[in-house]
Amino acid sequence: MAAMDIHQRDDLAFPQSLPEFQQLFPDDAACAAYLGRARWPDGFVCPHCGLIAEPFRIVTRPGVLECRACRRQAGLLVGAVMERSHTPLSVWFWAAYLVASQTPGMSTVQFQRQLGLTRYETAFGILHKLRAGMVRPDQDRIGGRPKEHVEVDETWVGGRTRGEGRGIHHKTLVAAAVEVRHRKPGTAQDKRKDGRYAGRVRLAIAADRGADSLCGFVENAVMPGSLIVTDDWSGYASLRKRGYDHHAIAECGDPEMVEQFMPMIHLVFSNLKTWLNGIHHGVSAKHLQAYLNEFTFRFNRRFYPFNAFRSLLGIAGGVEAPTYADLYSGAWTHPTCSGCLH
Ligand SMILES: [Zn+2]
Repeated sequence: MAAMDIHQRDDLAFPQSLPEFQQLFPDDAACAAYLGRARWPDGFVCPHCGLIAEPFRIVTRPGVLECRACRRQAGLLVGAVMERSHTPLSVWFWAAYLVASQTPGMSTVQFQRQLGLTRYETAFGILHKLRAGMVRPDQDRIGGRPKEHVEVDETWVGGRTRGEGRGIHHKTLVAAAVEVRHRKPGTAQDKRKDGRYAGRVRLAIAADRGADSLCGFVENAVMPGSLIVTDDWSGYASLRKRGYDHHAIAECGDPEMVEQFMPMIHLVFSNLKTWLNGIHHGVSAKHLQAYLNEFTFRFNRRFYPFNAFRSLLGIAGGVEAPTYADLYSGAWTHPTCSGCLH
C-alpha cells in the first residue's frame, strides 16, 4: 500500500513526537527548507536561467528564493496549498502534522484552539485547503487484484433536523466501495473476520439509488473485471453488463448475512458515521464531499501517518484550493475521486 504515496524520501523526515516536530521545524525558515527539498530533490533549479545552486533566501519572506546567477526570484509556494496565505509556514506545518498524526482528525474548533488562531475562519480555511490536497487528481480505481473482491453499498448520512421526526429529511446518499484483502495464512488476528481486512476505500455522494448513479459510481471507483459483492438491490443489477464480475447477496437485511458476506463496507459506514457525528458533530450536505475525502484519506493511509504528512505537503503542489469566500458562496466544488458523481 505504501507504493501509492508520492513521496518515499528519506531526506524528508516525519516527526514522531512533538519534541521531534519542534526540532525539525523550529521556524518558518526550516519549513521552507523542507518544502524546497521536496520540490527540488537535487537542489534548487532556477526557473528563469536553469542554474542549479543554493539560492539566496530572504529571512522575512521564507516563501521567496533568489537565484545566485540571474538574481530573479522564484516562489517556493507557487501552486502549493498555502500559496497567497497570510498564515505563517510554521502554522501550516503544525496543521499538516496534527491532521496527519491524530488518528480521527479534529474539529475546526479544537484545531483553532490547538494552534492558538484568533479567527475561526482561518482554522476553517486551513483545514479545507488541506482537505483539497487529500484527493490526488490522478487517483486510480481500486480493486483489480486477482483473488480479492470489492464490497459496494450505499447509505444515508447526516441530516438530523430537530422537530421533523424520523425519516431521511436532509440526508445525503453516500456510495462506497472497499477492497477486501486476506491476511497470509497463519497471520490471522481476528478469527471472526476469517483473516479478512479492509484495503482501500472510495466514497462519493450519489444523486439517488438508481442504476445510473450507483453503477456509475462503481465504474468511476472500481477497476473493470473486479469481483463486486453487493446486496440484491436492483440498482446494482446491471454491473455484470458493465464489465464486472458481480455477486449479489440475497436477504442482506439479515444482520448475520451482512456480517458474513459484507463485513467491511458496514465497518466503513459505521466508522464514517461515528466520525462525522463524534468529531465534527454532523456536517452540512454542502461540505460533505470534503469530509468524505478526508475520511478516505485517513482510512487509506491509516497505517502510514508519515506518508499522510508528506502527502499533505507534497500533494499540495498543483492542487487547486478554495478561498474562504468560495467555501461559503458555494462557488467551490469539493474535488472527488476521478469523475465521481454529485
Ligand atoms: Zn537564475
